[in-house]
Amino acid sequence: MKKDILGVRFDDVSRQEAAQLGAAMLEQDQFHYVVTPNPEFILAAEKDADFRQVLNSADLVIPDGIGVVYSAKILGTPLKERVPGIEFAADMLAKLDQMGGRLYLLGAKPGVAQEAGRRILEQHPNIVLCGTHDGYFKDEEAVLLEVAAARPDLLFVCLGAPKQEKWMARWGRHTGARLAIGLGGALDVFAG
Ligand code: UDP
Repeated sequence: MKKDILGVRFDDVSRQEAAQLGAAMLEQDQFHYVVTPNPEFILAAEKDADFRQVLNSADLVIPDGIGVVYSAKILGTPLKERVPGIEFAADMLAKLDQMGGRLYLLGAKPGVAQEAGRRILEQHPNIVLCGTHDGYFKDEEAVLLEVAAARPDLLFVCLGAPKQEKWMARWGRHTGARLAIGLGGALDVFAG
């Protein structure tokens, strides 16, 4: 069920429900994208209709921070719980590991995605790391071609908001991935 928080329509899901929905997306051979808005996204989306549209067109919109959960309560449309993007990402990595699936990491400063990948594989040895690319590029189409050539199942897009969401909405379906997730600074966290 969707709940509107100042124009952004969130899915009112628990972490476990989000993980089940994400896992089902990974099993389907079609593109999906998931966004993880925090309160800054909501403010930005009030001023940027294109960003709002991209958020509201996502297959799953999860409340990333406690700030969203508090705002939702104050506005009289309470949400079950916060679902941090990084925890949703961890759940999707566990699912991908079970599947022996392919992961591509896009974003952050040069070297960070490789290090994040190395650490993820330590925890999830059945995942195939099919590619990485830093998040400081000019030619969007060239990066798209690299991602598509790597044939990922799961794609983390970590370019900061709203760039990562707009990238997923514009190019995501051409990557061949089953699931792309906009994850902000997650690669810096995974890289340690
Ligand atoms: N980033 C990027 N390309 C850019 C701008 C940012 O790859 O053009 C990366 C940045 O290195 C960081 C991530 O995006 O790893 C998230 O940035 P930020 O901290 O601004 O976003 P937040 O986590 O607060 O959403």
